[in-house]
Amino acid sequence: MLQVKNLHASINDKEILKGINLEIKAGEVHAIMGPNGSGKSTLSAVIAGKEEYEVTAGSVVLNGEDLADLAPEERAHKGVFLSFQYPVEIPGVTVTNFIKTAINETRKAKGQEELPAKDMLKLIREKADLLEIDRKFLSRSLNEGFSGGEKKRNEIFQMAMLEPKLAILDETDSGLDIDALKVVANGVNKLKSSDNAVLVITHYQRLLDYIVPDFVHVLYNGKIVKSGGKELALELEEKGYDWLK
Ligand code: ADP
Ligand code: MG
Ligand code: MG
Repeated sequence: MLQVKNLHASINDKEILKGINLEIKAGEVHAIMGPNGSGKSTLSAVIAGKEEYEVTAGSVVLNGEDLADLAPEERAHKGVFLSFQYPVEIPGVTVTNFIKTAINETRKAKGQEELPAKDMLKLIREKADLLEIDRKFLSRSLNEGFSGGEKKRNEIFQMAMLEPKLAILDETDSGLDIDALKVVANGVNKLKSSDNAVLVITHYQRLLDYIVPDFVHVLYNGKIVKSGGKELALELEEKGYDWLK
């Protein structure tokens, strides 16, 4: 599904990613861990196509297609989903209305007609029920006064609705409480299937107690310095990152 080959990327002429190789197959969950400043968020932003980063070498290929020339929205339409690290508040726009617009924009970009209101409502209810999201939550203003857990619930709801091929969840280094971790983990576990893939980027070993990854990679100073199975996360919990430097 995703092939990242020898990816180098810079911001303001400073090289941050220094040759990343990563292959993710459909049905797999990969975790990227690493100390603060190692380039985790940069990697997720570059895969999603954020324009402030300059790719100086290498490639990102999704389902056989090189994404190099595609804008973030086009990548989203191809099935790349990046959770918002710093969700914006949009007073007056509800969780439901935001997602309706996002769904219909995606359909339009693919040359499809808008989803009829009845079907949209059905889909929203189905996904909300699957994720055990309260109906009342759906009529809240987007991110206005949301707790950490509610912000995560909204992101996971967006992910459920958009049904991405590749979901990238970049968990900030700022405190996620245990409830928020559980919301993310529960959502990922319910949404993963044999035809999508998930890349969880985290500073926290703890998240991986709830989302069991198939592979764990350690990013350090812009390179993947070690890859392994889920046991690598436990080893990192015990030993930290210093032994890998
Ligand atoms: P992580 O997510 O692993 O904590 P980041 O990808 O956020 O790491 O950052 C990697 C490095 O890139 C850090 O040294 C950071 O200071 C630098 N960096 C990130 N964004 C910018 C930016 N907009 N301008 C300059 N340096 C940046
Ligand atoms: Mg950081
Ligand atoms: Mg980060």
